[in-house]
Amino acid sequence: MGKKNKAQQQQQQQQAPGPEEAESSSAPAAEPRPPVIVVYCGVCDWPLEYCEFGSSFTKCKEWLKEENQELYEKYYSEDALAARLGTISLEAQSALEQDTAKKEAKAEAKAEAEMKKKMSSQVIIKRMERTKRKHVTVISGLDKFGIDLKKAAKQFASKFATGASVTKATAGATDDEIVVQGDVCDEVLEMIEEGVGVLKGVPADNVEIVEEKKKKAGE
Ligand SMILES: [Zn+2]
Repeated sequence: MGKKNKAQQQQQQQQAPGPEEAESSSAPAAEPRPPVIVVYCGVCDWPLEYCEFGSSFTKCKEWLKEENQELYEKYYSEDALAARLGTISLEAQSALEQDTAKKEAKAEAKAEAEMKKKMSSQVIIKRMERTKRKHVTVISGLDKFGIDLKKAAKQFASKFATGASVTKATAGATDDEIVVQGDVCDEVLEMIEEGVGVLKGVPADNVEIVEEKKKKAGE
């Protein structure tokens, strides 16, 4: 028993990690198979295999080339492409490339349109009269600037020590709104302009206060 054991020990010692790798040695001995590592694209966030189906394929490829030459070769070297495309004709290949170019142009146009739309979006702070003495402040449009409405409502609630909630858009409108109890329009405007807490990214020019008086009977 002694001999065999010794041999095993020696083998184990050879396999044991060197001192510089010792910090990971708390893990059990080497696994039979290395875990599968999925590499996600830094551009489109999908696993590398899916980049070609996205709308940023050219950028994805550029990114990978910079990031990891080895993987780039694996996916996009001439050999790899030839192997994958196999029997696809040149015609089909160029059709694929055109398709990609179209998709990319479309995505770029879309991103630009979204940016334009965002910059022309308004955040409306509405002062609403509920009764003669009671007002609520209704804020809409913050989500257009990527602000989490629930977090913003929470922030308003604690700032003003009052109730604040997110309500579903009223009929016709598509925006969810934040309703804060009390008239805090000016304070809210100031907070948005200063970008307090989660209220970041709204240009001051895009914020507006409007008044909504209670309708009188007969109106
Ligand atoms: Zn990608």
